[in-house]
Amino acid sequence: MTLERGRLRSRAVADKEGAAAGSARTRLSISGRARVVGIFGDPVEHSRSPAMHNAAFAALGLDWVYVPFRVDGRDLAAAVAAVRALGMAGVNVTVPHKEAVLTHLDDLTPLARQAGAVNTVVNRGGRLCGENTDIAGFERAVKAAGVRVRGRHVVVVGAGGAARAVLVGLGRLGAGRVTIANRTPARARALAAEVDGRIAADPVGIDVLLDPGYLAGAVLVVNATSAGLSGAPFPPLAYAGTPRECLFFDLVYGAGTAFLRNARRAQRRAVDGTEMLLHQGAAAFTLWTRRRPPLEVMRAALR
Ligand code: NAP
Repeated sequence: MTLERGRLRSRAVADKEGAAAGSARTRLSISGRARVVGIFGDPVEHSRSPAMHNAAFAALGLDWVYVPFRVDGRDLAAAVAAVRALGMAGVNVTVPHKEAVLTHLDDLTPLARQAGAVNTVVNRGGRLCGENTDIAGFERAVKAAGVRVRGRHVVVVGAGGAARAVLVGLGRLGAGRVTIANRTPARARALAAEVDGRIAADPVGIDVLLDPGYLAGAVLVVNATSAGLSGAPFPPLAYAGTPRECLFFDLVYGAGTAFLRNARRAQRRAVDGTEMLLHQGAAAFTLWTRRRPPLEVMRAALR
């Protein structure tokens, strides 16, 4: 069976990197021995991970394939059991399963345990190990955007699985104080209590962000909610209350979200989650295949 790669535009770059690897390919070949990975989420149709990983497999001439699976919460245990039963090499896990999947795994890495969330599962001879590569992806994206958070105030909107990874990343980057603002304040409080001792976290309801004084010292505002994904309007926020150099970072990638549009309107820098997606994917690729990821091929496939 042969699959056309998703993005023809990535062909030139893929060829260059593939040639460098000694095996230029433009098509993904799947034999009877193919290794299968994929993504479990709901929704999952929006995901660009299949295009990114399949482009990388093709460029390196790997007999691997990455498949999207829409998994309802009630079927998560069965879906994880299928990773073992089908001998899949692993899976990515996305909204809304990143926390729920923990109880179905055999092992967790220290980072995944610290985050309390998993986005990558690796099948090691039938034992499923959970890792969180969102953390490394977030750190690389923040550095690439040129923001220094050490000792500074950062605002994280959201308290779900992605926010957990962001908080671990901010702790590792040395953020001074982190406000966790969530639609359901009790969830923000629970998360702040969990990270207590590792990071100075201040849990609030999302309406607090309407107060410009509250944002006056923030160098980074992260949207870790799934509001942009569903097209729901983003709750109002005092964008112009932030310092001029403040970066607005939406973890949602692709479609220009209301959060990013409002930030730009207030003449603030704004980036989406593409760079984070690339680096979390690159880390997962290495865990599964033990190969160096062809970053430029993967980046081109995401465009
Ligand atoms: P999740 O665990 O389901 O959490 C969703 C969060 O969004 C909760 O805090 C929820 O608040 C909040 N929320 C949902 N709809 C909202 C609305 N209309 N207004 C305000 N808050 C709302 O999801 P997740 O795994 O954390 O993922 C969050 C987002 O990050 C997703 O869009 C995902 O695609 C993105 N993400 C991107 C990357 C990347 O590589 N770029 C990596 C990871 C995640 P309540 O607690 O009140 O329900």
